[in-house]
Amino acid sequence: MADNLRSQSKLKEMALIVQKFGGTSVANPDRIKNVATRVAKYHAAGDQVVVVVSAMSGVTDGLIKMAKEIMPLPNEREMDMLLATGEQTTIALMAIALHALKVPAVSMTGAQAGIVTDGVHTKAKIQNITPKQVRSLLNQGNVVIVAGFQGQTHEGQITTLGRGGSDLTGIALAAALKADLCQIYTDVDGVYTADPRIVPGAQKLNEISYDEMLELASLGAKVMQSRSVEFAKKFGVVFEVRSSLNDNPGTIVKEETRSMEGVVIRGVSLDKNQAKITLISVPDRPGVAAAVFKAIADANINVDIIVQNVSHQTDAPSTDISFTVDKPDLLKANKVIESLKESIGYRAVTTNEKIGKVSIVGVGMRSHPGVAAKMFETLARESINIDMISTSEIKVSVVIDLAKGEQAMRAVHEAFLGK
Ligand code: ADP
Ligand code: ASP
Ligand code: MG
Repeated sequence: MADNLRSQSKLKEMALIVQKFGGTSVANPDRIKNVATRVAKYHAAGDQVVVVVSAMSGVTDGLIKMAKEIMPLPNEREMDMLLATGEQTTIALMAIALHALKVPAVSMTGAQAGIVTDGVHTKAKIQNITPKQVRSLLNQGNVVIVAGFQGQTHEGQITTLGRGGSDLTGIALAAALKADLCQIYTDVDGVYTADPRIVPGAQKLNEISYDEMLELASLGAKVMQSRSVEFAKKFGVVFEVRSSLNDNPGTIVKEETRSMEGVVIRGVSLDKNQAKITLISVPDRPGVAAAVFKAIADANINVDIIVQNVSHQTDAPSTDISFTVDKPDLLKANKVIESLKESIGYRAVTTNEKIGKVSIVGVGMRSHPGVAAKMFETLARESINIDMISTSEIKVSVVIDLAKGEQAMRAVHEAFLGK
């Protein structure tokens, strides 16, 4: 079997391997059987295999939709109780598929695998992992199948790790078990210069640095959950993103190497999952921004871009503050802002869900000036108006009209990465 990381690192013959399979890779019984066949080959070769699976594709979204049909802002503890069932279905089916191939296999929930999290329901953070039971089942010759995306607090409450959180389960288990190999199987051949479903000319990358992958992921390239990349960087987990549908070598994600700096732009991403909130006519005095963003942070809502205008009137100075949050947090954020109306005294609030954020990412940007200007020129040529801008050392992001998001992404990709 073509094994990119294995051949690169001259891996020992028998290894401990963590393999994570996403929703589309386990979408139906046939796909599950296909995964089981792949896992069985590694097991037959003498490897110890831990399989992490997501819910079957569409299941998590379906569960969320049902809950929201009952009430728009459901209790978050109950949401975790509900969503954890998705992955629990897949682990059992995967164990059954392996049994059908005569491979000994045992399924485990996140809690049984020793994944302990904090109590922030729907986006819990892993506090520690004690995979004692996983190890002993592996040593007895089993394939161990762990439910992705879920954990348990010290008090025994079921939690989930944020959307796409099975990636995190895979990487965190690889770190805790000191795995020799960590493979993230998905429905594309690896990490591309842009989402290949939107940009037909996107190219597959052989390797990418943690920092670039982290930026791309947090800027909307959902091929990896950004928190999982953060975790991999922190614990030095080298991993490969590859397809569950073929044996092509994937993309290796690892620490930056010298040769990576030669490339100015590694990739382009589009985030359609952001919403903008604007507070109109906020009194321009010390403490106002602090009050707004403390209340938002206390509600565990992540804020991305913040823009505050200059205030003009000098008698009673006031200003507008705009910021973006993840769309699923919009309702909650709005509630928080409403509760501040009396104490802060702004005139009105507006929200806009029809925004898209286009970003370019590359470590080479540090040493190549003019990148932002080229991006803005490209958008101007397409008559696309820029609403907000944010930059860091290795990225430039712009917020634009959602309807023009894909057009912008293709144009920017062509300008920087076109052949
Ligand atoms: P899984 O169910 O395996 O976790 P996801 O749907 O979460 O898979 O992520 C895979 C998808 O990510 C791909 O189908 C692709 O459309 C999308 N994607 C977005 N940006 C990129 C990128 N830069 N490279 C590869 N895939 C990308
Ligand atoms: N099932 C979860 C989700 O859809 C976790 C995952 O797929 O990684 O977000
Ligand atoms: Mg995913």
